Order: sequence, then structure tokens, then C-alpha cells
Amino acid sequence: MIDCHTHTCNSPDAENTVSELCEQAIALGLDVLAITEHCEVNRFYSIEYYNATPNGYDTYNFDLSFEKSMQDNTKAQQKYHNRLNLISGIELGQATHDFELAEKIISDERLDFVIGSMHQLPNHDDFAFINYNEVDIPSLLSENYFEVLKLCRWGKFDVLGHLTYTLRYIGNYGITVDMKSYDEIIVECFKALINSGKGIEINSSGLRQTYGKTFPDFNYIKLYKDLGGEILTVGSDSHSIHDLTKGIPEGIELAKLAGFKYVCYFKKRKPYFIKI
Ligand SMILES: [Zn+2]
Ligand SMILES: [Zn+2]
Repeated sequence: MIDCHTHTCNSPDAENTVSELCEQAIALGLDVLAITEHCEVNRFYSIEYYNATPNGYDTYNFDLSFEKSMQDNTKAQQKYHNRLNLISGIELGQATHDFELAEKIISDERLDFVIGSMHQLPNHDDFAFINYNEVDIPSLLSENYFEVLKLCRWGKFDVLGHLTYTLRYIGNYGITVDMKSYDEIIVECFKALINSGKGIEINSSGLRQTYGKTFPDFNYIKLYKDLGGEILTVGSDSHSIHDLTKGIPEGIELAKLAGFKYVCYFKKRKPYFIKI
């Protein structure tokens, strides 16, 4: 059992400590646990640095939480070294907003694993806080996939996080989206990832949300495989110890159905393959 996408209280929206998560992982018999805290590139420094007005939901100072996370993860790696293969990662949000800063952040040698995610577009709210009754969803999604393509072409992370993440929030509004019009650009994203030896993740969090499927769903997992994709991680995106490993067996089943024989985890930014 493996879980390559988890958060602790070193992320602003998660609850348990690193020790609590590690203890739970050991209790569940996990072989590999990756802790991947949020690190939003566009809000890395203080609110004063960006001269932004507080809006009650955006959090800043990921510079501080990143350092705290690296320290806590390193301590936990020592403490649990003979009981758990603990991967010290991050979920790097919006690298496209500042590639230079993103590169500086991920040059930290304590990092084992980097998930590249897109939670927010330039000049938009974070996807979690958009009112989908008031926006033009097709144009928002097409902007999103152009930004994701830019991220994939930069390609300095290890796996692309939750490719179809926006559907989680759109789904909460009871709105369904025909993804066909984005297939062409998603193919370009996959090709860019495959060419640079980068991968995707199956994020199982959608299975416990209104959306009800993994991010991305089976069709895209299969498309990635058919285009030659080999690097695949699976993660629950748990924000509480109760969600650790939730949906991972289902995610691995989808990987097998799509033709994958292995899933990966990363240590010191190198992929290790586990037979499934
Ligand atoms: Zn995310
Ligand atoms: Zn996450």
C-alpha cells in the first residue's frame, strides 16, 4: 500500500500533525507515505509583499510553512526510518505564476518529490472560491488547460497534480462539463510530460466528493498510457488521517485497467517502480 499525496497541519487546510499521519500510516501498514504540503508560488511570501487586501480565504507565507514542513519531515524520516518509507514532498501550486521562484523553491535538497498543481489562474480566485454560477465555465476551463500546458512544458516537477481538479468544484454546483473540447490540449500536456520524463497522478480524492471519480478519470489515465506514459503515482490527497489511503485501491485498479504494470514513488526526485 502506498499513498503519494497527503497533507498535514503544515498545510493551511489540513488538521493532523506529521507524527499523527505517520502513526496512522504505520497502523494501516503503508509501505510508502509521501507528505506533500501546499506551497502556493503566487502567495509564497507575506501579504504585505504582494500588497494584497485580505479576503478571508487566501493564505500567504508559504515560505514559512515550507521550511517548517521540511524540518518536520526530516525529523519524522529519522524517527520512523525502520517502520515507514517517508517521502518528503510538496504540492507546488501555480509554478507558472513565477517560474524563477518555483525553481528556487524546488532546488531544496531535502525534497524527494514535487507534485505540480494548478489551483488558481492569474487574475482569478483560487478554483475553490469561484462562484461557478457566475463565470463562463468553458472559457475558464480553456484558460486553465493553456496554463496547465505551460506548466507541463516547463516540466520541472515530478508528476502533474490532479489534471481535472476544477471539476471537483464545478461538480459541487451540480454542473457537468463535456471535456471533449479540451482533449486536444490535454494530449499536448501528456506529450510534453512524456517527452520530459515526467508523470501524472491518480488523485483519488474525487471518489469521496460529489464528483465521484478520480482526478483524472479513467479515460485520461488510459489516454496517457496509450501515448506512452509510464510514470504514474497514486494519492488520496488526504487532509485528515481519516482519509489516508482512501480510494487508493480503486485508483490502482484503474491503473491496471489502463494497462499499467507499475506505479511509482519518488525519493530524492528519482522514480522507484512498484509492481501492481
Ligand atoms: Zn491540489
Ligand atoms: Zn493536495
